[in-house]
Order: sequence, then structure tokens, then C-alpha cells
Amino acid sequence: TIAIGEIVLKFFRRESLEDRYHQVMVEMASVDTLTQLPNRRIWRADLERAVAQATEGAVLSLVFIDLDHFKRINDELGHLAGDDVLKAVAAVIRDSLAPGYLAGRLGGEEFAVVLPDVALAQAIEYAQLLRRAIEDLRVDLPGGPRPVTTSIGAVQWHSGFQAPADFMRAADAELFRAKSDGRNRVCARELA
Ligand code: GH3
Ligand code: MG
Ligand code: MG
Repeated sequence: TIAIGEIVLKFFRRESLEDRYHQVMVEMASVDTLTQLPNRRIWRADLERAVAQATEGAVLSLVFIDLDHFKRINDELGHLAGDDVLKAVAAVIRDSLAPGYLAGRLGGEEFAVVLPDVALAQAIEYAQLLRRAIEDLRVDLPGGPRPVTTSIGAVQWHSGFQAPADFMRAADAELFRAKSDGRNRVCARELA
């Protein structure tokens, strides 16, 4: 290591044990092990970068996704079956992404996608395609293949929002509406 005042530089050979250890640690701190999607911390950093551009005038949308009655799968078929459903849904989400879209697992059975340069109408279209793709999925579970559905909330950034947290709250409110309206649907509101 080379220390220059407060800065310490450390070198290691590429693919050395230390380099690989470093790569594994970064990966473990960034990627959700079950779904292989970015974890909440990394996704949140992605969102903050996108919001910084939106406050400069860029168009930005946000989609929140929550599995419907997921607890039933765990209760009826066990936690491992629940994990298989989460993996299958995450794979559909990953396949749905256009270049630039930023997906993450927020926790539990909740996922989110940041859509830079996408206005609400296109975000709704995307959310509907995703909702249908998940509805069409048949996850191979004990007792046979079984359908899963999701409720989705979509919002577009507008100047009335102060911070990423306001944006997330708005998406969550739309998701809540999708649940109350009967689930397996997309709700969105023009907030301008
Ligand atoms: P709703 O339609 O209202 O969203 O109902 P829900 O059953 O999907 O929602 P609820 O929040 O009641 O249940 C979420 C469940 O997700 C509860 C929790 O045990 C389960 N869960 C969270 N993380 C994991 C995980 O990593 N694996 C599995 N198998 N289950 C998980
Ligand atoms: Mg939930
Ligand atoms: Mg749920």
C-alpha cells in the first residue's frame, strides 16, 4: 500500500486471490442472491442518479411491482416454493428490461423498475406487458404449475416532488390502489 496523506492506494494483481475476494465482496453487497437483481441499496443509488437528471429536466418514470397473495404460496407450498416463484418472476422482469431500465428487488416480494427518458403512457404500456408476462408464467411447483399475478403502480417524475422518497411514495400509492381495486392490474396517475 502507498499512503499519501489521507489517501491509501492499494494494488493487487488482476485475478489474484485478493482481487477475486474484492470482486466477490462487491457482488455480495450489490446483488440480491436469490433473484440476482440489484439489491435495494444499489437500486436506490440508481434511482437517485436518475432523479438528479430529472430535476434538470429529463423525463423519468417509476414502476413498483408487488406479487399478489404471495404469502399463500409460502403457507400452502413452503418457503422454498416461494423462493422459486420469486426467482421466476425476477427472470421475467430481467427479460422485460429495455436498455437503460434499472430494476431491483426492494425486499420480500417487491420489485421496482426505474425508466429513464420514459413518460407515463409508455411506462404504463411497459407495466401492462410485464404484468401479462408474469400472468402467463407457469411456475413449476409441488402440486403442479401455478399462475402468479402482480399488482403494479406507475408514476412519472414531476417538479412537485422534492426527493426520491416522494417519487417512491407516489408509486407505492398507485400500487396500493392496484391492490384495493382487485389486484392483477396496473394503476397510474398523472401527477403534473
Ligand atoms: P398482497 O397481495 O396484499 O401483496 O398479499 P401478499 O401475501 O403478497 O403480501 P404479504 O406482505 O402479506 O406477504 C408477503 C410475504 O412474502 C410474507 C413473507 O414471508 C414473504 N417473503 C418475503 N421475503 C421472502 C423470501 O425471500 N422468500 C420467500 N419464500 N418468501 C418471502
Ligand atoms: Mg409486499
Ligand atoms: Mg404481495
